[in-house]
Amino acid sequence: MNKKLIDNLISKGITNKTVLETIGKISRERFVEQPFRHADMCYGPSPLPIGHNQTISSVYTVGLMTQALDVNKNHKVLEVGTGSGYQAAVLSALSASVFTIERIRDLSLKARAVIESLSIRNVTFIIGDGSIGFGEYAPYDRILITACSPDIPSPLFNQLAEGGIMVAPVESNGVQNILVVEKKNGIMFSKEIAPANFVKLIGKNGYETQTLERCGF
Ligand code: SAM
Repeated sequence: MNKKLIDNLISKGITNKTVLETIGKISRERFVEQPFRHADMCYGPSPLPIGHNQTISSVYTVGLMTQALDVNKNHKVLEVGTGSGYQAAVLSALSASVFTIERIRDLSLKARAVIESLSIRNVTFIIGDGSIGFGEYAPYDRILITACSPDIPSPLFNQLAEGGIMVAPVESNGVQNILVVEKKNGIMFSKEIAPANFVKLIGKNGYETQTLERCGF
């Protein structure tokens, strides 16, 4: 295990032992492009490009969101935004099963190839608009959204199991924050845990493609 990395995460508030052990075990290098594979970049504080104008979140952000998700080995988890597949690999080690949705086919296929090469077998890859969730396997004990939306997408809250937790970046007045959402008696309770800097969730319940084009994105 990379002691310097773990000490650094602990100093920033990632203290959950299982999350730290999992991050220590999974080689992030496998999920990033060659130029970013040296430790300073790979485990540095910034998101890194993965192609198609998308990013892999920093290891700190992955640690923070995974810790907030409070996952255990009985949980069925939905991830929206497969990207490189790194977050899905981390979740796969902590949960019973992971369903991960990505709208960009090429990213989903690449992530799948890496995850399969690591002999991880409890991740199901879905290509499509994750802002509508994936009703077929709902409800999910945990939902993690790794792209920012203007609000918590209501289909995703509906697909969250009673007592479940969702972690998601949400933008309000131009500022992104990571929210931890709990479903209690069907009601949403949410709190902000940290500022964020995610790419946009593009889809029916995120940012519509046309809106982004109008704004010059
Ligand atoms: N979790 C990823 C990882 O471990 O590398 C990082 C995800 S990246 C910050 C956000 C991803 O969300 C991008 O790959 C993007 O294509 C994807 N995305 C954006 N809108 C989406 C949508 N509606 N459904 C599914 N994926 C979406």
